[in-house]
Amino acid sequence: MGSNMKCINHPNRDAFLRCNQCWKPLCNDCVLRSNDGVYCSPECAHKGEEFKIKAAQNTNRSSLYWKFRTLRKFAIGVTMGVVILYILWIWGPEPIPSILSSIIDRIFG
Ligand SMILES: [Zn+2]
Ligand SMILES: [Zn+2]
Repeated sequence: MGSNMKCINHPNRDAFLRCNQCWKPLCNDCVLRSNDGVYCSPECAHKGEEFKIKAAQNTNRSSLYWKFRTLRKFAIGVTMGVVILYILWIWGPEPIPSILSSIIDRIFG
């Protein structure tokens, strides 16, 4: 074991942790523990919290975007399927048009 990383405040002490925000190496005495990680100062802890809130907001937005994209893909897929079936019904080789005709008759007849 043993890293050569030294605390920014104590050059003769080994640093075991890094600030989550500014990535400075810290010894056990200099570390500031919060709910969501370790920081070098209250300023960094505050910035880290803001960053986390922003990240959560971004995740919400992107999941909405993803849902929209999935919906659009689904709609395109259905449209393509209908178009392909229509083309097969009009120009397709037998017995595809008669099979499709009998299916359509069963649905609408
Ligand atoms: Zn920091
Ligand atoms: Zn220190």
